[in-house]
Parts: sequence; structure tokens; C-alpha cells
Amino acid sequence: MTVHGRRESQDFAPAFFDVAQSLEAAWDVWSSTHWGANHLEQAAQRRLRQLVAAAREASPYYRSLYRGIPKDAFDLAQLPIVTKSELMAHFDAAVTDRDVTRRLIHRFLADHNRVGHPLDDRYAVWTSSGTTGEPGIFVHDGRALAVYEALEVIRFRRLLSPAMLAATFLASDRYALVGATGGHFAGNASVERLRLLYPWLAQRMRVFSILQPTSALVDQLNEYRPSLLATYPTAGDLLAEEQQGGRLAIKLREIWTGGERLSSAQRSHIGAVFGCEVRDGYGASEFLAMAWDCGRGALHVNADWIFLEPVDEHYRPVPPGVASHTVLLTNLANRVQPLIRYDLGDSVTLLPAPCECGSAFPAIRVEGRCDDVVGVSDAAGRTVKLLPLALTTVLEDEASVHRYQLVQAGPTALVLRLDPKAADEQAARRCRESLGRFLQAQGAANVTLDIEHCSLQRHPVSGKLRHVVANTAGR
Ligand SMILES: [Zn+2]
Repeated sequence: MTVHGRRESQDFAPAFFDVAQSLEAAWDVWSSTHWGANHLEQAAQRRLRQLVAAAREASPYYRSLYRGIPKDAFDLAQLPIVTKSELMAHFDAAVTDRDVTRRLIHRFLADHNRVGHPLDDRYAVWTSSGTTGEPGIFVHDGRALAVYEALEVIRFRRLLSPAMLAATFLASDRYALVGATGGHFAGNASVERLRLLYPWLAQRMRVFSILQPTSALVDQLNEYRPSLLATYPTAGDLLAEEQQGGRLAIKLREIWTGGERLSSAQRSHIGAVFGCEVRDGYGASEFLAMAWDCGRGALHVNADWIFLEPVDEHYRPVPPGVASHTVLLTNLANRVQPLIRYDLGDSVTLLPAPCECGSAFPAIRVEGRCDDVVGVSDAAGRTVKLLPLALTTVLEDEASVHRYQLVQAGPTALVLRLDPKAADEQAARRCRESLGRFLQAQGAANVTLDIEHCSLQRHPVSGKLRHVVANTAGR
């Protein structure tokens, strides 16, 4: 089917990587960064019309979903909502390239040597469990990837002009991503993709696993000496403690955080210890760069490339200042797997007052994952800190459970609650084995694990399922 990376049916599809495409996206993002709200809205509406037309034309799922909706209706509120489970159940019909099938993707995902490589020479594939606790597979075309990259570089890193793109890539920074490694996760796969596209950067970009014991991670970072570090807020906080204790000794120019809510206490602690700026971002496997941190306490939505609609549990809009139950994402950059009014699952608050930075891009706060760091005692009575993202990766990726809650019952006791509707005895056995291996690797094999099949506790404010609850936070 593939001849020199091109197929007849896809001659007009964007390439996985193309310099002209990247420059066009960079120019567009740069020039629109200083537009007013009206211009942003117009660009988004124009892109929405093109996206809806393309989805109707090439996706049998959307064609059938939009049957009965007038073809000239481009008011977002008129379009039906799609959920992750529906989209995954109708995967082959929802995508706009008939050659991209679930079967093909499963073969691709099974091969961990292909992390960051293109599927069928064209597409990036990322997997996620997301905040809804349901696994998802997301396919992105080259144009979407060029837009995400431009948004990251120009808005998130505040580049002054597209000409600085090359300079950024040639700068002498050493970049470290401390996160989930090995799988086709968005962060890990994006680093591998960049290493593949820019081989001269390969030595200056590395991914470090949060699953390993803290002392091993600290040793690796000391040896690598990164100048830029991207990680989760809880991991950033833990590394700040290591730096404060003198075990970690790295000089950072900037720290980028994402994936969880960054509290102001975490921000000031991390920033003070490392003596550098902490920048937060909001991204997902569905759209890599949804909002960026202006440094004045707000995340600004890239409203020329996405629509984000904060809604309540009945999908009705919630007013500014109120935390939403979930948020609907429309990805205006990606055509291969249209996401239009897609239930992302995150709780988001639209900030009522304009941000003092003066940006025309809407300001939000993301409630995000609010799981705790669990401090347990090892056999010698020393505290071992277990990061929530490490615990959830072990349970979701290794043990394949998604409806669960890990609760600390004491200094050396954990209780795993499994939803009886979604997990059987075999799932319980997988959890026991995977968590057991993880605790042993952390030097905390003395910690006991009880498994209960019972209902799960929700967060009192957002209504979200809390996956990891520490002892101090109460039960
Ligand atoms: Zn701002």
C-alpha cells in the first residue's frame, strides 16, 4: 500500500514532517499571537467550518452523526457532543483516512521500538488514559503536529519571531523530560519524534522515568545536568526537596510543568529552590498545547486553534468563575481524527476578570488531576515518597485497571479499591503483582496492600474520581 511513503488516496494529506508546513504554522501562530479577540474568533470560526465540512465528507461516523443538521449550520452549540467511549467504539468509521484502522494501530502500538515514529509514514499515534479513566488512542496528522509545535515554541516559550525557531533548536540547552517512559504516551512520543527529526538534538533531549526510585532518578539527573526540565508538579516538588537536601545538584534555566494542577505553593517552592522560572502548560493526548502560562497566574487558551467549552454534568455551559464538571474540546488543527465537541473530562474554570497580562486569549484555571503524593515508611522507618503519576501508570499501564482508587490507610498500609463492575479477581491479582514489584523497587516492600471491591470516592469540588489519596488528606 505504501510506495515511498506516499499513497494514492492520501496525496493531499499533510506529510508527517515538512519544513514549509512547519514554517507556515509558526508564521500563523506568531502573527496571531498579538491579535485581538475578534480576529481570534474569526480564525477559529473559519477553521471550524472547514473541519466540520471535512468530517462530513470523509468520516462516515460524523456524516451519520450530523445527518439532520443543516449543512450551513456552523454554530458549535448545534453540533452533538462526542465521548471518548463512542469515538473509540467507532474508531475506524470516525477517522477520515480509510487506511487507518484499529487493527493497524494495535499492531503499531504493540511495538515499543516505534514510539515517536510515524504510523504509515504520516501520523503520530498517542495513547492515554486521561482523567476519565478510560483508555484512548489519538491519531494526529503532520499539520496538527506542526501547529502544536508552533504553539509550544512561540507561545509557551515566548519566542519573539519565527526566525528564532532555528536558534531555539540550536541553543545549548539540555532538555530532560521526567515522566512516563517507554510507552506511546504523548510526552514521551513527542520527544522521540523530535529526536528522530532533528538527530543533532538527540544527545540533548532525554526522557527519565518517574517509576524508578527517587535516588536513581537523582543520580541520573546529576549525571546528565539538564538546563530545562519538564515534569509533573508533584515530581517537580519532590525534585525540589532533593535539591534542597543537597542530593540533587542541577542548575536549571526553566522548569515546565503539566499533567496535574500546579498549586501556588508548589510553584513558589520549586521556583525558589531552583532559582528559575516555573512555567505551567495544559495539554492532552487530544491536543498537545491547549493553554499556556503567562506568568500572572492564568493559563491562556489557544483560542485560534481550539474551542474549549466548560460545561456541567448535563453538558450545559457553566458561567465564568465556576469549576466545570467537564470541558468540551474542538481540535481545529487535526483532520485525520476529528474531535468536535469532544468530552475531555477535565474540570476547568474560566476566569471572570481579564488577565492583568493584557492577553486577548481567554484565561482559565485547570483543576486537573488532584492526586496526592503518598509518603510511606520503609523497613528502617525512613519515608519513601510515591508519586501519584508513577502509581497510576503502574495500575493503568501494567495492570490494565482504570476504575480504581488507591488510599493510604497508615504509614505502611495501602488499600486499593476496585470498582466491582469493572474489575474481577484476575484484575486484582494483576494489581497486586504490579504494585508489589513497584513497591519493592522503591525499597518499600514492607508496605502491605489490601484490595477491596467497593464503590469509589469522588472529589468534593470537581466530582472527579480521585485515584490516589494520601493519609494526610483524610479518607
Ligand atoms: Zn495572562
